[in-house]
Amino acid sequence: MSVSARTAPGRITHRVGHSSWEGEATRTSEVFNPATGEVTGVLDLASAEVVDAVVTRAQTAWQDWRHVSLAKRVRVLFAFRQLLEERTDEIARVITAEHGKTHDDAMAEISRGQEVVEFACGIPQLLKGGFSENVSTGVDAYSILQPLGVVGVISPFNFPAMVPLWFVPIAVATGNAVVIKPSEKDPTAVNLIADLWREAGLPDGVMNVVHGDKEAVDALLDHPDVKAISFVGSTPIARYVYERGVAAGKRVQALGGAKNHMLVLPDADLDLAADAAVSAGYGAAGERCMAISVVLATESVADELVAKIAERTRTLRTGDGMGESDMGPLVTRAHLDKVTGYVEEGVAAGAELVIDGREGAGDLGGGFFLKPTLFDRVTPQMSIYTDEIFGPVLSVVRVGSYDEGLQLINDNPYGNGTTIFTNDGGAARRFQHEVEVGMVGINVPIPTPMAYYSFGGWKNSLFGDTHAHGIEGVHFFTRTKAVTQRWLDPSHGGLNLGFPQND
Ligand code: NAD
Repeated sequence: MSVSARTAPGRITHRVGHSSWEGEATRTSEVFNPATGEVTGVLDLASAEVVDAVVTRAQTAWQDWRHVSLAKRVRVLFAFRQLLEERTDEIARVITAEHGKTHDDAMAEISRGQEVVEFACGIPQLLKGGFSENVSTGVDAYSILQPLGVVGVISPFNFPAMVPLWFVPIAVATGNAVVIKPSEKDPTAVNLIADLWREAGLPDGVMNVVHGDKEAVDALLDHPDVKAISFVGSTPIARYVYERGVAAGKRVQALGGAKNHMLVLPDADLDLAADAAVSAGYGAAGERCMAISVVLATESVADELVAKIAERTRTLRTGDGMGESDMGPLVTRAHLDKVTGYVEEGVAAGAELVIDGREGAGDLGGGFFLKPTLFDRVTPQMSIYTDEIFGPVLSVVRVGSYDEGLQLINDNPYGNGTTIFTNDGGAARRFQHEVEVGMVGINVPIPTPMAYYSFGGWKNSLFGDTHAHGIEGVHFFTRTKAVTQRWLDPSHGGLNLGFPQND
């Protein structure tokens, strides 16, 4: 039975350590299956009081977890990794049922999250500080990395498993306790992941889940026992979370929205570029922060490139992510309406609508469907160019040269991801050097960094200075202590009120 065939909406609630919350919610929200439009769950939304109780539980658990040896922590991480691999299909089905992306795509996002767990399994190596013997006569200096305490994670709807897995494994491995607030649109995957941490032997209270909306987020941002916030979501909320969290004295990394460009030079392999544009533009219905939403086609190849993109786009099957589809629905009716509104604005502004994804979308049942939509001759003044649409809408902008394309990318307020298609190594090298974007691809559609590199954009795509996972993730969740030691020689000593000098 496909998950989308479920009928009775079940209650979805917080996880206070190993237990489900047993209180009575004052506010709830509905969770939908976007492929059918049916309500499949009713979610408890945490009040500030509930957040406080969960943070207090985490703070208590942290007092013990911070002293647990690296050897024991690593055993928990290896066990969690094994369980995650075994349950990937189960979690993926839930993601498809609440988010809408295809089951294969949901499997892939968990797999990318698992890579971060594997990175965190190497935490004993990553937490090694430095040691310098004899920095002054008889004096040694060294550094140690210690956990922060309780850390908050606030995640978006579009990667309900992967984004939490960018942060939680590293936060836990470095000795912190976590309170995570997932998106209220697809909250169940994080509850399943919390169960796996319990099964893996993580002590009660180290990993906690509060569900909710702005009220829960604000309570985490203001809580004095929450020492750091890792946020991923849209740019206006990222900016808000950053400013409010920093004002409350917290360490904050807030990853925001995107408008990713693909620059196609005349010497590119146009079949490869067209495959990439379609895959990166319409995968997950464009609901990826690394989705390509603008193709900058150099004039001499633009007609041919648009024809190749259109030909491939027409072959895509849109439908329930559990079925034989390449692309699922959008996450909510409101989001579908917003994306459709952009298509209308693009037409009104005079862009050439090569493929209209609104046609036939209504025949796909009661779900929130828009088929792949392709615009050509888009100009930088149009809202389909300036705004993050976050849907299956690809815009082709024709440019006269590499320089014109580069200028557009660098003028854009976002700087998450970009990619260039060319067979000219010199041009590609110049692009990686000159482009003002945090994650760069060369002849690849979606340049998402591996777990042992760090993930993060520039400009309005990231507030704060630390990217997610990789060594930057380890630094984000730890604070460094520098120790200077001397074991006194009986012949040494005496008063010296001067500033320490080394000899
Ligand atoms: P969103 O900003 O609406 O929500 C993100 C989180 O913030 C959710 O947990 C939500 O409950 C909470 N939130 C929403 N409104 C709030 C408010 N007014 N005050 C406090 N908290 C609030 O984002 P979304 O729609 O869930 O996710 C899509 C966005 O996330 C896109 O803009 C996408 O580009 C971005 N994203 C960025 C990255 C990245 O790495 N830069 C990765 C994934 C998604």
